[in-house]
Amino acid sequence: MEKLKERILSEASILSSDVLKLDGLLNHQVDPELTMEMGREFARLYAEERITKVITVESSGIPVAFATALTLGVPLVFARRKKTLIADPDALTERVPSFTKGIVTDIMVSRQYLMPQDRVLFIDDIIANGDAARGLIKIIERSGAQLAGLGIVVEKSFQAGARTLREQEIRVESLVRIASLEGGKITFA
Ligand code: 5GP
Repeated sequence: MEKLKERILSEASILSSDVLKLDGLLNHQVDPELTMEMGREFARLYAEERITKVITVESSGIPVAFATALTLGVPLVFARRKKTLIADPDALTERVPSFTKGIVTDIMVSRQYLMPQDRVLFIDDIIANGDAARGLIKIIERSGAQLAGLGIVVEKSFQAGARTLREQEIRVESLVRIASLEGGKITFA
């Protein structure tokens, strides 16, 4: 998406050679019209896939996942970041390292919102090492639902996440791919 590249160039700041700050359009403030365009693009890419549910992880994936779900006419489920140690027999839980926070968090989806007959599209804001994606994919597998693929707004293709998933024959569609942040410069793939 050319418009998204332009917005990234004008609004993103580079925090280090592997971290981009995208608060102005993904992680703090949301542009509803641009977000709807992203959702329509993911819905177009997965139009033939008989998606029954869109899934994401709270919180930054929710706006674009909502836009996708609205366009496809299906529910949106967001995995919650669990703060309790109380075991819930109805919850599917995975522990994932957080790329930006440097901690591990537990993500959780209730079984009632992910059924074996579901065909799921996983939407997220950014993919780096792929830990969040792998955690959610394990939850989807354990629920018995089928994963149709991933829709990622910004793929940092110099990190291994998206590549590793594609090597496992998982469909990953990214709206923008960043090849490098070296030298304080954003280079698109
Ligand atoms: P992963 O699990 O793929 O390593 O990281 C994915 C998650 O970490 C994303 O959902 C995103 O919120 C966060 N993340 C990864 N890299 C970046 C980055 O460069 N900038 C920001 N703002 N968040 C990131």
